[in-house]
Amino acid sequence: MRNTLGPVPFTPYHFGPALVAKAIFPRTISLRAFAATQVAIDSEPLYRMFAGIEPLHGPLHSVPGALLASLVAVLAYAWWARRSGHVLGWKAIADTTVFGALSHVILDMWSHVDVARAYDLLGDNPPPDYEATARFCIYAGLVGAFMLAGRWADGVWRRREGQN
Ligand SMILES: [Zn+2]
Repeated sequence: MRNTLGPVPFTPYHFGPALVAKAIFPRTISLRAFAATQVAIDSEPLYRMFAGIEPLHGPLHSVPGALLASLVAVLAYAWWARRSGHVLGWKAIADTTVFGALSHVILDMWSHVDVARAYDLLGDNPPPDYEATARFCIYAGLVGAFMLAGRWADGVWRRREGQN
């Protein structure tokens, strides 16, 4: 029988859309702080899996729960990064917290039955599709990587122009 919850963890796929966000908002999306938010939110199904608690997704996969977990993770990262001289501004803290939490809940809603059920999405809608969501994330990651490479090349080109 097919596992309707999909394989866990889903965490790495969340980076696809994050690369697009980073390419569009390079100054206010921190990919490292984003990584911390995803790990913090998905510590919930990981813990529940080992503890044998069903459903795997609970309060941290609600919007307020995800925002809270995200904020704690981003602040912890900001505190840690500051010690090595990298200061994360308030706008970056706010944007990464909100993007980390909302993108996580939306993608998990599209991919996990228990999260979709929590948001009452099952009715007449097609059931969540783990593979389709994973594919969407991979394509988004390719687009995001391409956009970031374009930004990087543009920056190099501008610096060269400036020197001449
Ligand atoms: Zn999750």
